[in-house]
Amino acid sequence: MKGIRGFKDILPGEVEKWQYVENEARRVFGLFGFLELRIPLLERTELFARSIGEATDIVGKEMYTFPDRDGDSLTLRPEATTSIMRAYLEHGLNVKEPVGKYFFIGPMFRYERPQKGRYRQFHQIDAEILGVQEAQADAEILVMLMRFLGGLALKNLNLQINSLGDPACRGPYRGEIQKFLRSKSEALCEDCRRRLDTNPLRVFDCKREECQAQLEGAPVVLDFLCEDCRRHFEQVKDMLDTLRLPYGVNPRMVRGLDYYTRTAFEVVAGDLGAQNAVCGGGRYDGLAEEIGGPSVPGIGFAIGVERLVMLLPEEKNYSRYPDVFLAALGKDAQRRGFILAQELRDAGVWVEIDYEGKSLKSQMRKADRLKAPCVVILGEEELKKNRAVLRDMASKAQEEVPFEEILRKVKGKNHGSGAKGR
Ligand code: ATP
Ligand code: MG
Repeated sequence: MKGIRGFKDILPGEVEKWQYVENEARRVFGLFGFLELRIPLLERTELFARSIGEATDIVGKEMYTFPDRDGDSLTLRPEATTSIMRAYLEHGLNVKEPVGKYFFIGPMFRYERPQKGRYRQFHQIDAEILGVQEAQADAEILVMLMRFLGGLALKNLNLQINSLGDPACRGPYRGEIQKFLRSKSEALCEDCRRRLDTNPLRVFDCKREECQAQLEGAPVVLDFLCEDCRRHFEQVKDMLDTLRLPYGVNPRMVRGLDYYTRTAFEVVAGDLGAQNAVCGGGRYDGLAEEIGGPSVPGIGFAIGVERLVMLLPEEKNYSRYPDVFLAALGKDAQRRGFILAQELRDAGVWVEIDYEGKSLKSQMRKADRLKAPCVVILGEEELKKNRAVLRDMASKAQEEVPFEEILRKVKGKNHGSGAKGR
C-alpha cells in the first residue's frame, strides 16, 4: 500500500529542517509578542465559502469537502486566517484584549495538481494581528516576517507589496478591469472568462501565459485608491523605509482570496522555479463581518513550509548526532550498560546502545555510522574494576575511566553542550 498522491511523509533527515524552522518561528514571533493559537482541522464549509469567497480557486475547486455522518458539510482547512478569526470572535478574545497577535503552525489541505512545491497536504506558518487598523501593524508584521526569513539565511528573497483598496474603491476599479478585459475575452482561458463575470481581479492571479499577456496595459488597482487607502499605503511604505526594509511595489499582485483589503504582499524566491511564492498575506478588514462578527480589522501572512525548507542553505547541517555510543560486551556488561545508559540519559546525554549483543567490531561500526563522537566500551575485565574504556572516535585515543567519571568525560567530549544541534 502506498500513501495518497500529494500527501507526503516527512522523514528523519528532512524533519530536522522542519524542527529548526518551526523553533525559529516560535522564537522570533515570541519577540514580537505573538501567542500560539491552535485551530481545528475541520470547519463548517460555509465558513470558508463566506470568508475566502465562492468565486476563488480555493473555494471553487480546491477544498476537501465532505458530508459528516449527520449531513453537515465539513471542510479540511485550506488556510488558517479564517479559523483564527472565527476562534477570536467565538471566544470573545477581543473583549478582554482587543489587540490580538496570534500564530499557528500546521497542515492545510487543497485539492491541487501535485508537483514540485505543490502538495495536497502542505504546511503553513501563519501569523495574524487582529484588532488594529493602523498602518504600523502592517509594517510590523512585515518586519517580523522578513526578520524570520532573513534569520534562516535564505537568499534571493523579494518582498512585493501592493494595496487592493477597500470595497469602496475596488468597486469602480472592478468595473474598469471588466471593461478592459471584455474586449479580450476571446483570448482568455475558460477559467478567466468565467472570472470576468464573477471576480475579474482573479485574472491577474491566473498562471497561464496567454492570460497574463492580455493584461498588458490593464488598469491597476493602485490608480483607483480612495484618499484613505492611499494614505494608509503611503504610511506603510514610509515605515518600511524608516526601518530600511527592502521591498518592491507590484501593482499587479492581487492574491487569491477575496477577503483582502488594502495592504497585500508576497515573498517570492528567485530559486524556486514556477512555485515561487514562499509567503502570502495581507490586510482583511472586512473578514470578521463577512463571517457574522462585528467589525474587526486584521492583517496576517502564511508561509509555505515545504517551499521554505527547499530554500534552506545546503551548507548548513541540521542533523543531530548522539553524544555517546555505549558498546557492551557480554551479558553482565550489557546489564550494567543498560543501567549506565539510563543514568547518562537522566543527566541529559543522548546515548545510543546496541540491542543485539553484536561483536565489538560491529558495534564500533554502528557508532561510526551514527557519528557518535565517543564510545564507552564495557568489557568483562573493566567491569570488575568498575571502569570502562572511553574511545575518542576522531583521535582514536582510548583511556580507562572509573564509572563515576564517565558522565563528566562524555560531556567534555561534547564540549559540555549535551546533544548538539538541538
Ligand atoms: P500559489 O499561487 O502558489 O498557489 P497561493 O496564493 O494559493 O499560492 P496562499 O493561499 O497565499 O498561496 O498560501 C500561502 C503560501 O502557502 C504560499 O505562498 C505557498 O508558499 C504555500 N502554498 C499554498 N498552496 C500550496 C500547496 N498546494 N502546496 C505547498 N505550498 C502551498
Ligand atoms: Mg494557490
